[in-house]
Amino acid sequence: MITPARRLTAVCALGAALTACGTAPAPQAPQTVRRPALTAPSPPPTLAPGPAGLTPVFRHGPRTRGRTVALTFDADMTAGQGGRAAAGERFDNPRLVAALRRLKVPATVFMTGRWAEEYPAQARAIGRHPLFEVANHSYSHYAFTDDCYGLPALPRKRMRADIDRAFAAFREAGVRKIVPYFRFPGGCHDRRVLKALVPAGVTVVQWDVVSGDAFATDADAVAQQVLDEVRPGSVVVMHCTRSAAPTTERAVRRIVPKLRERGYRFVRVSELIGAVVR
Ligand SMILES: [Zn+2]
Repeated sequence: MITPARRLTAVCALGAALTACGTAPAPQAPQTVRRPALTAPSPPPTLAPGPAGLTPVFRHGPRTRGRTVALTFDADMTAGQGGRAAAGERFDNPRLVAALRRLKVPATVFMTGRWAEEYPAQARAIGRHPLFEVANHSYSHYAFTDDCYGLPALPRKRMRADIDRAFAAFREAGVRKIVPYFRFPGGCHDRRVLKALVPAGVTVVQWDVVSGDAFATDADAVAQQVLDEVRPGSVVVMHCTRSAAPTTERAVRRIVPKLRERGYRFVRVSELIGAVVR
């Protein structure tokens, strides 16, 4: 993000190319003149607080403003899975990321902090590539409610810290494009958790299309489920972790050309949220 002071400098520098910036410009050594920024980066759009001031929850974009769809990929790794990774289990999926790049598909990766620690080079590459943005899927991938697909539950007083620790892990890995969106492990949440997380300032992102790629072995079935369920503005949940979602890359290679044939344009979640708040 560009600070107001820096933005002013950039605007003045741009203006100075045509005319003086202000009536009495201070002399500047040539090496201190900034190159003009033609477009200032703006912060990612977020939703206003939900009912009763709760953390807002986003499920899909507008249905009536063109055929856009956001593919989202959860880069899951649980805090307790370090031993399994050390033993050779792969929680990453470089071929999937390569396919997205080759197909030029923008995507939002919901990364756990633990994943970024295990695969810092990949986290950094994803978080610096113009196609992608990195959102928060917790540090530990522990549950934020008591009953969530058998995941260990996070004590309430550690929830906020778990989210902050994931953001810190992204920065540590060198991720640049971090967006203030949060996806609950397993998607599990309730009103009390949405209230407890208000100070975190995140927009929660759920989905309206479940790809069914978790533990799937039939890429065609995953692809068909997505193709059957996508509507304009959809958010599709998939995974970027080979051990738990081994068919995702093949499914994506089937899904992308078919949706493009139908006139769909792939976007990141930030664009869908931006379309809602505009
Ligand atoms: Zn997950």
